[in-house]
Amino acid sequence: MVIINSLLATIMPYLPKSLVRPFAKPYVAGENINSVIKTVKKLNDDGFSTTIDILGEFVNSEEEADKIKSEYSELIKKISIEKLDSTISVKLTHLGLGIDHNLGEKNIHSLSLIGKENNVGITIDMENSPYTTKTFEIYNNTLINNEKMGTVIQAYLYRSMNDIKDLDNPKLNLRICKGIYNESKNIAIQDRLAINDNYFEMAKTLLKGKGYACLATHDLTLIDRLESFIEKNNVSSDKFEFQVLYGVPMGNKLDKLKQKGYKIRIYVPFGEAWFEYSVRRLKENPKIISYVLRNLFKK
Ligand SMILES: Cc1cc2nc3c(=O)[nH]c(=O)nc-3n(C[C@H](O)[C@H](O)[C@H](O)COP(=O)(O)OP(=O)(O)OC[C@H]3O[C@@H](n4cnc5c(N)ncnc54)[C@H](O)[C@@H]3O)c2cc1C
Repeated sequence: MVIINSLLATIMPYLPKSLVRPFAKPYVAGENINSVIKTVKKLNDDGFSTTIDILGEFVNSEEEADKIKSEYSELIKKISIEKLDSTISVKLTHLGLGIDHNLGEKNIHSLSLIGKENNVGITIDMENSPYTTKTFEIYNNTLINNEKMGTVIQAYLYRSMNDIKDLDNPKLNLRICKGIYNESKNIAIQDRLAINDNYFEMAKTLLKGKGYACLATHDLTLIDRLESFIEKNNVSSDKFEFQVLYGVPMGNKLDKLKQKGYKIRIYVPFGEAWFEYSVRRLKENPKIISYVLRNLFKK
C-alpha cells in the first residue's frame, strides 16, 4: 500500500484537474468566498462552529502575500457582517514568512487588528519545523493586540510538551494536532502509537492548565480517551472544543459529542489553490491517499 500511495502521489501533479477533483472535492468548500460562506452557514445551522482557511502556502512575492492578506481581511469582514460562528485559520508562509520574517509578521499583525475590530478569532496554523519557534514568537506578539489569537501545537514533535508549558496562560487558545509534515526522527516521534500517547499527555496538560484546548483529531480511539479524561476530571466544557477537518467522515461521533454539549469546530478550506494544495499534501504524506480512497468507498 505504501508503494501504491507514493506512486499515486508522484503521478498526481501530471493528471488533469478533472481527475484529481474527486480527491479534493469532499474536503474543499469551493473556490470562492460565496461558496465557503454558504457551506459555513449550513454548518452553523447544524450546530457546528467553523474556522475558514484560504488554501495555499509559500507565496513567492510580497505582492502575492499582500493579496492573500487582503483576501483574509475581506473574509474576516464577511464573517462579521454575516454574523457567522467562525474564526479564520492562517498559515504564516501564505502571508510571506517564507520570503521574509518581517513581512509575515507585519501581515499577521495587520490581520490581528482587523480581527479585533470585527471580533473574529484567528488561529495561526503550524507549519513544518523550520517555522515552529518563529510561529510561537509571532503568536505571542500578536496576542498583545488581540486576545482572540490562537495557534497550533504538533504532538509528533519532541519539543511540544515543553512548548505547552511555556505557552500556558489564561489567554492561550491552542489547537493540538498530531502533525501533518514529514519530520526527521531527530526531532519527531515516528511511531503512531507513541504520537497518540504524546498527544494524550499534552492534551491532559493543556486541559489541566490555564488555557483553552482545541482537540483536533479524527482518531476515534483518541477522542474516546479524551472524553474519558474530561468526564473523570469534570473538565468544564468552556475549557475545550473538538475540531475536525471538513469532509472527513466521523460516523455518528460528532452528533454524540454535540449531544453531550461539547463544542465542535470544523476546519473549512476553500480557494483556487485546491489543486496545488491537494497535490502538495499528497506528496508530503502519501498516506492521505489511502484515507481518501477508503473514505470514498465508505460513502
Ligand atoms: C482542525 C484541524 C486542524 C489541523 N491543523 C494542522 C496544523 O495547523 N498543522 C499540522 O501540522 N497539522 C494540522 N492538522 C492535521 C493533523 O496534524 C493530522 O495530520 C490529521 O488530522 C490526521 O491525524 P488524526 O489525528 O486525524 O489521526 P490519524 O490517525 O492520522 O487519522 C485517524 C483517521 O482519520 C481519517 N483522516 C485523518 N486525516 C484525514 C484526511 N486528511 N482526509 C481524510 N481522512 C482523514 C482517517 O480515516 C484516519 O484513519 C489539523 C487537523 C485538524 C483536524
